[in-house]
Amino acid sequence: MTDDYLRVSYSSLNTFESCPRKFEFSKLFDRRPWTGEEFAAAVGTALHKGYQEYLVSNDRDKALWAMAKAYPHELEWTVEASKAEPRSLAACAITLDAMIDSDAMNEWEVAQIKNPQGEIVPAIEVPYEIRFKGITLPDGRGVAHVGFMDAIMRHKGSNDLFRTLDIKTHRRFAREATSKYRYDNQQTPYGICIEHIQGKPVDQFEVLYFDTFVDLAEPVITLYDFARDQHDIQDWLTNTILKIQNIQRYMEMDFFPRTDGGCMSWNKACPMMTPCQSRDRNAIQEWLLAGENPEQRAPEIPWILAWIDPFGNEGD
Ligand code: SF4
Repeated sequence: MTDDYLRVSYSSLNTFESCPRKFEFSKLFDRRPWTGEEFAAAVGTALHKGYQEYLVSNDRDKALWAMAKAYPHELEWTVEASKAEPRSLAACAITLDAMIDSDAMNEWEVAQIKNPQGEIVPAIEVPYEIRFKGITLPDGRGVAHVGFMDAIMRHKGSNDLFRTLDIKTHRRFAREATSKYRYDNQQTPYGICIEHIQGKPVDQFEVLYFDTFVDLAEPVITLYDFARDQHDIQDWLTNTILKIQNIQRYMEMDFFPRTDGGCMSWNKACPMMTPCQSRDRNAIQEWLLAGENPEQRAPEIPWILAWIDPFGNEGD
């Protein structure tokens, strides 16, 4: 069995769905080291850290300190004041208070998990990797699905009831977001991770989207929770395998199609407009590296490593 994997995530598979060519550029070519961290995303990370600290310690001061330490003070100066102000440190402190006041987790406690060093730790920011048996890409690699879970919670009244959590921070004014999350599958594979933790199949678990409108005057926290079960996990697996088989096919053909849907997203042109004109791999590689050395990033060491046999050829 191969020990080298193409690692895809919820977000990279979404890229694949929106434009296979864009996926090819980001996953199948060497890239320059990435230096473009964005202010809004970094603010989201700071709020994650603050709330995750609160989940572990139940201490508002520690949560505030964790958020403030992670706050991107330097990046704040790289954006216009009108964009920085609603995500200022003060706005984040008020938003974090609102997150804690939402009482979303009254009946829940953070589950415990063994990390790669063998220590039992709170299941916060848990990296996982799900490897698919029986799939080999034309370049000899296997395929794995990877990601981070913001938190795994266990119900205080029942050892068998789990809830996973995804914190979504944003400045989107369209508030009602049921349609955004109802069939979103970001957290569905977390069920496979829960099975791994408890050592038996999970009948049902809960996914919570912690939707957080960041604001200085009026932050809004809306909780969207949904049940997921084995049917959802199976749907996710089937859908994921179909996408991976398409990746396999496009690699065999050496042809990743361009999107038919235009090349703008979030009102910005795709940054790949120039290399996208070419089908010459060497020319594309040269353009992408622009004379720099490729990024060498070691894969994350997963806390949960699961193998799935999607074709049912082997025992698990
Ligand atoms: S320029 Fe258009 S077709 Fe090419 S990668 Fe970007 S979105 Fe896809």
